[in-house]
Amino acid sequence: MFPTEDSEFDRQHLWHPYTSMLDPLPCYPVASAQDCCITLADGQTLIEGMSSWWAAIHGYNHPRLNQALTDQIAKVSHVMFGGLTHNPAVTLGRALLDIVPPGLTKIFLADSGSVSVEVAMKMAVQYWSGHTQTKQQFLTLRGGYHGDTYAAMSVCDPDNSMHSLWKGYLPEHLFVPMPKCRFEDVWEESEADALRAAFAEHHASLAAVILEPIVQGAGGMRFYHPQLLKRVRELCDQYDVLLIADEIATGFGRTGKMFACEHAEISPDILCVGKGLTGGTLTLAATITTDRVAEGISRSPAGCFMHGPTFMGNPLACAVATESLRILAEGKWQQQVQAIEQQLKAGLAPLIDYPNVKDVRVLGAIGVVECHHPVAMAEIQAFFVKSGVWIRPFGKLIYLMPPYIIAEHQLARLIAVITEAVGQEALFLAE
Ligand code: PMP
Repeated sequence: MFPTEDSEFDRQHLWHPYTSMLDPLPCYPVASAQDCCITLADGQTLIEGMSSWWAAIHGYNHPRLNQALTDQIAKVSHVMFGGLTHNPAVTLGRALLDIVPPGLTKIFLADSGSVSVEVAMKMAVQYWSGHTQTKQQFLTLRGGYHGDTYAAMSVCDPDNSMHSLWKGYLPEHLFVPMPKCRFEDVWEESEADALRAAFAEHHASLAAVILEPIVQGAGGMRFYHPQLLKRVRELCDQYDVLLIADEIATGFGRTGKMFACEHAEISPDILCVGKGLTGGTLTLAATITTDRVAEGISRSPAGCFMHGPTFMGNPLACAVATESLRILAEGKWQQQVQAIEQQLKAGLAPLIDYPNVKDVRVLGAIGVVECHHPVAMAEIQAFFVKSGVWIRPFGKLIYLMPPYIIAEHQLARLIAVITEAVGQEALFLAE
């Protein structure tokens, strides 16, 4: 059991993500987690539908990930990366270069997804600082999400995020409208008109385009057409602008490809990965770039890339990430993600007939039910927990991205509970 005074301490003293300190929503105490289940302190077991925000791709308490961690703890948990290196970083580096899109060769190990986005944006600006033009602006798509640090926030959707809160503080970048052409639609060439116009007008000041390839995640869970990504790559080449692909959510198989860029058969100039990199065990991300960008930065006035966090290349995180990549390299994830996709498509499709459901969409191991009304968070969370599942909606979106190892009957249960939820008015706000 979780002592009442611990719950009270949590309420009084611990911030939770995007949560009021005056009137926090209830938090459910966790005792342990195994495979595709989270066990609460009161003994109840919940089927995990979120992979702890895209991260726990192999499920929890994985014996191979645990072993990698304990083996590494016995050697060294952490040393500074300035002037020192170690086998876990080198082995992880090799494993990453084996799977990332072609042309990416130089790896910066960062501590979290947001930091890897900061690093990517700094890389782009520093790359151009060695050139005659000043190129410090970024172009992105509306509806995107790239993290909560300052530079990352400045390229998140301006309406759906926190721009108004930070007005005057955030650099102002360029936004083109949210992609309309869905992943499975017939491609409309006019979809790229706004991009073409933005490049034509602003290319001289553009350091880079930054976007989430194919899947816009926390900004709305939308899946857009691969051809749009192709066009962005072509325009970047035509106008000599760098392309940053934020695959922090989509990387490592989630969309049915190892990286979402593969849907469009493109390589970015800078790639950000995180979340699933360590199989959801420890915080680690990476910003991976090309020889050209790395050389450009190294020839820029500063002479080197100006970033170096204390926990850069943490050996424990690198060791467990390497083991996670070994599991992926065995290839089972492909059938697992395909099976999840089929089951999500079949199971969620009937929900479109519910009056409260606006749209249902599935790509790889991601299933989204978009409702007409926002969820009543505390009520729907309690309903899900009572029903034995862990699903954490936001706004009008109820979505699933389960660990790849989820069993058919567990996914069936997640789908059944969502089906029950969308039919219950009391779980939604009138708006
Ligand atoms: N980019 C994307 C696409 C993300 O989904 C996230 C996390 N939701 C981030 C960046 C930020 O990562 P982190 O939370 O690890 O800082």
